[in-house]
Amino acid sequence: MSNPNSPRVRFAPSPTGFLHVGGARTALFNWLYARSQGGAFVLRIEDTDQERSTEESYAAILRGMQWLGMDWDEGPHRGGDFGPYLQSERLDIYRKHLETLAEGGHAYKCFCSADDLEARQEEIEADEGTWAGYDGQCRHLTTEEIAAQEAAGTPFAWRLRTPDEGSTFWYDIVLDKLEFQNELMVDRVIFKADGFPTYQFAVVVDDHDMGITHVLRGDDHVSNTPFQLMIYNAMEWKAPKFGHMPMILGPDKKRLSKRHGATSVEEFQTQGILPAAMTNYLALLGWSPGGNADEVMTRDAIIKKFSLKKINSSPAAFDYDKLAHINSEHIKRLSAEERLELAKPIIARDNWALDTDWLIHGVDDTESYLNRVLGILGNRFSNLVTLANHIGFFFTEEHFVDAEAWKEHVTPEAARATLVTLAKAIETGMDLDVAQPASAFEEVIRSTAEEMGVKAGELIHPSRVALTGQSRSAGIFEVMELVGARRTVARLKNAANS
Ligand code: GLU
Repeated sequence: MSNPNSPRVRFAPSPTGFLHVGGARTALFNWLYARSQGGAFVLRIEDTDQERSTEESYAAILRGMQWLGMDWDEGPHRGGDFGPYLQSERLDIYRKHLETLAEGGHAYKCFCSADDLEARQEEIEADEGTWAGYDGQCRHLTTEEIAAQEAAGTPFAWRLRTPDEGSTFWYDIVLDKLEFQNELMVDRVIFKADGFPTYQFAVVVDDHDMGITHVLRGDDHVSNTPFQLMIYNAMEWKAPKFGHMPMILGPDKKRLSKRHGATSVEEFQTQGILPAAMTNYLALLGWSPGGNADEVMTRDAIIKKFSLKKINSSPAAFDYDKLAHINSEHIKRLSAEERLELAKPIIARDNWALDTDWLIHGVDDTESYLNRVLGILGNRFSNLVTLANHIGFFFTEEHFVDAEAWKEHVTPEAARATLVTLAKAIETGMDLDVAQPASAFEEVIRSTAEEMGVKAGELIHPSRVALTGQSRSAGIFEVMELVGARRTVARLKNAANS
C-alpha cells in the first residue's frame, strides 16, 4: 500500500459504452497524478444503472485502459484493500450507510411514482412554472401517511433532505471557487425503488470508503458536486478535493462527437496510433508542460512534468492532425528493436512468413528478413496501418496494386511496355537464383533507361507500383534487393499484364 499521505485517486466509469477520449483523458489525468505523486490509482466500475450497464462495455473499458498502459493499483482483476470495486457488488455497504442517513433524518422515503412525477411536472409547466426535478411532496409526510403508504405496499425511493438555506461551495482545483445556493437544490433520489443506490449516493460512499483524496473528473459533473457535498455533510464525512476538467471539443469547437471522426480509444488503435502517442496527445488536451518544452513526450517524461496546477480551465479542441503528427514523431524516435516489436505482431496477425522459395542470401528466418525490411523502410511510415502496408508486399504476392498509384505515376500503355523491357533485362542480365545487391538492380535500370532513351524515373515509378502496389516506398533498388530478382521479374510481368 502507498504511503498514507500520498493521494488516492480513481477513475470511475459507468460501463454503458466504449472508452471514449473524454473518459480516457479523465482516467489519464488521475493516473498521471497518482504516478507523479507516488499515490494510488483506483479503477472502480459504476454499474448501478442495471439497465444501461453491459458486459461488453466493461470489457471494452478495461481493454482501452490496458492498451493505453494505464495500470491500476486497485480494481477489477487486481483487488485491493477497499474492494469490491464493482458497485453492483457493494449493495450492502450502501444500504448500511443509507440507514445512517435515515436515522439522522437526512433521508426520507418518497412514494411518488414516475407517473405521479410526470403528471405534476406537466401541471407546473402548463402554469408556466419550472420543474426543477422534484417538488418536495414526500418531504413532509406525517408518520401516519408514511405508515399508510407502507401498509398499501407502495414502492418507494429514498431522497436526501437537502438544506433549505445557505450555500454549498468548494474550491475547485481547476475552476477555483464554485458556489451554489442551497434553496435551489433538489432533493434528489439516493436510493431507487429497485434497491439500487443512485450514482449520486454510491459515488460519495465509495469515494469516502475507498479513501479517495482527489476527485478529478469532467466538468459535466460540476452540477452534481454540491449535491454530493451535501451527502458528505449529512454523513459527517470529510469531502475529497474536486477538480473538474473542461470538456473536449471537436475541431469546430462544438462538443466532440462521432460526427467529427473517431471518438473511442479503440478506433484510434485500429487507425494505427501508438498507445504512447495517444497518451501523449490526451495529456495535452487540457494540460501542457509549459514554456517551450517539447510537446512530444514519453509517458515517463509526462509523469515527471505533470502537475494539477497546469490543468487548463478552458475547453480543449481535439485536433486529429496534431494527433497524427505526435504519432509520427513517436515513430521517428523508436529504436530498431522497438520497430521490430511493433512489426512482429502484424506479421503474425496477417500470417505472413518468409517464402522459402525466395530466401534471400544470408537470411534464413522471418525475423531477420523483417529486420532488413525495416532497415530500408526507416521512418517512411507514420502509423501502424501504413507500417503494415509497407512491409506486407515483402511477404506476400497478394498485395494489390493501388489503382490511384498506378494512374498517378504511369501512363499505363507506355508503362506496360517499359515493365516488360525491364523484366527481360533483369532476366537476361542477372542470375535469378542468387541474392543480388541493390547496386546491381540500379545498374540494370540505369542501363535499360539509357538504351530506351528515357530517364531512369520512367522505369522507377512504374516498377515501384508493380513491386509494392504503392506510389511511395523505401528506395526501389533496396526494395528489389529484398524482394529478390525472381520475384521482381514476376511482379513486373504481372503488372504489365494487369
Ligand atoms: N460514473 C461516472 C461517469 O461515468 C463518473 C463519476 C465521477 O467521476 O464522479 O460519468
